[in-house]
Amino acid sequence: MSEKNPIIVKVSGPLVVADNMHSAKMYEVVRVGDEGLVGEVIRLEDGKASIQVYEETAGVGPGEPVKCTGKTLSVELGPGLLQSIYDGVQRPLKVLEEKSGHFLARGIDADGLDHNKKWDFVPTVSKGDTVGEGDVLGTVQETSLILHKIMVPFGIKNATVEKIESGHHTVIETIATLKTEKGETINVEMRQYWPIRIARKITKKRLPDTLLKTGGRSIDMFFPLVHGGAGCIPGPFGSGKTVTQQTLAKYCDAQVIVYIGCGERGNEMTEVLNEFPELIDPNSGEPLMRRTVMIANTSNMPVAAREASVYTGITIAEYYRDMGYNVALMADSTSRWAEAMREISGRLEEMPGEEGYPAYLGSKTAEFYERAGSVDCLGSDDRQGALTVIGAVSPPGGDLSEPVSQNTLRVTKTYWGLDAQLAYQRHFPAINWLKSYSLYVPNLDKYMRDNVAPDYWDVRSDAMGILQEENKLEEIVRLVGPEALSFREKLVLLTAKSIREDFLYQDSFSAEDAYTMPQKQYQMLKTIISLYKEGMVLADREDFDFKKIEEHPLIHKIAQVKTFSNDETKQYEDLRAEIVQVIAAL
Ligand code: ADP
Repeated sequence: MSEKNPIIVKVSGPLVVADNMHSAKMYEVVRVGDEGLVGEVIRLEDGKASIQVYEETAGVGPGEPVKCTGKTLSVELGPGLLQSIYDGVQRPLKVLEEKSGHFLARGIDADGLDHNKKWDFVPTVSKGDTVGEGDVLGTVQETSLILHKIMVPFGIKNATVEKIESGHHTVIETIATLKTEKGETINVEMRQYWPIRIARKITKKRLPDTLLKTGGRSIDMFFPLVHGGAGCIPGPFGSGKTVTQQTLAKYCDAQVIVYIGCGERGNEMTEVLNEFPELIDPNSGEPLMRRTVMIANTSNMPVAAREASVYTGITIAEYYRDMGYNVALMADSTSRWAEAMREISGRLEEMPGEEGYPAYLGSKTAEFYERAGSVDCLGSDDRQGALTVIGAVSPPGGDLSEPVSQNTLRVTKTYWGLDAQLAYQRHFPAINWLKSYSLYVPNLDKYMRDNVAPDYWDVRSDAMGILQEENKLEEIVRLVGPEALSFREKLVLLTAKSIREDFLYQDSFSAEDAYTMPQKQYQMLKTIISLYKEGMVLADREDFDFKKIEEHPLIHKIAQVKTFSNDETKQYEDLRAEIVQVIAAL
């Protein structure tokens, strides 16, 4: 049979079906139509390929050609990733704009990395050394914040370094020559490729046991996340998902941030794109972008690129983790990703699962979050790295019974549930303290006692107990009024109010308030709780007038705990001593 040229037979939105594709492989990148749009083979049957196209397909029609490239959809990894803003298939938005203006022309080729820029490469191994996959060959100061490690590509084992020199190189020049056991010569460049849908190799996963410090009080103190953990932020429209993700990106103590924006609306993403490059890293005083990679999908970008964007982002994040960094990835919002999957699945005419989402939504969601982890990196130098993944979910109407929320909750261990009611009352962050949880609490047991305070967990559980009791008492107050409450119950309500207003409420837009270090969080909460604990000595005084506490200037002082400076433990101790004195004198 004579081989016919691949040709388009059907176009259905982002999905193109082509015939004569016998030579194509699954997940191979192809160029579609006369304009050569970027696409990926996602189904192959008898020479017929279903291709998901990462660019707008309007105007493309049957009869146009398809070209196979022989490559799988991969990212180009190397120096220059940081500070970049990419589309879903790692094309730098800046290059796309330069080539085509604001309205993206189609079929544009753009490398993920700048092939002309030169970097100072400094070897860390010498001629004659034996190296294998994951071993660091040398470094490049990628930005003032991050030292980029050039690693031996995966698949190379027991190779001898034949040549390696320091120098000023582009990412596509040879920086080292290796000779394998079989006598094969390999020229190593600073860039390498990795297919986005496959997790990068590691030596092994470790039990995560270190707090991801976010500076968010309700997060670190009540619902903590670990380096290498997976968390989710479900919430209805306007409840603060984007603000929370951005605050985390800005303040959390990960060394590298990958931010994937799947915009609900184009202008929302544009806001992020305009604001992010302006932000200053509060820890280093340097622009935040120097440790950040952004993947941007506005809603006007093709749906398939949105599907790919989370994989592009997480592969880049894994690459920095492999260097031994603590990386955090934020995906906002994964619901848009799931919707992209649903649309493509529908066009493939697959059997729909719940609410039209494909039956594999659960396994894809799990695969994505399982790429998080605290790991021993591949390589012989005992590097450890971590990748933390935080996904926002936007359930329609805030109803968590829908499939994306359910599948996400199944595989993430920290749940920060944003609440429409709290957002409406402008209690921010609108993290519902009664419903949220962190399953990392046991992992952090020792860390918190050693690094924050020996009685950390007692203070946390006292505070949570008071908030839970407040919730029950509110019902009684609604039914019979506050007068029916005992002294202790009134004290619970007074303390709970202080926990909510003086501790949990935190303004992300206030430079002073947005970040609180965990030690200070603990001091604040311990001080607030001491009002309840000390106040209880008055519980036996039958005729005690509760107003004497409620209206005492002390309450106003306690409300100021957040304004104490970050390292002033003594101020808290003094205030606690004053609480004891005042109560004794009442
Ligand atoms: P979502 O992404 O859930 O639709 P946003 O993150 O855009 O919601 O938040 C909506 C608005 O709520 C913000 O514009 C801001 O005014 C307010 N907001 C949310 N979180 C905070 C916060 N932590 N501090 C102060 N304001 C907040």
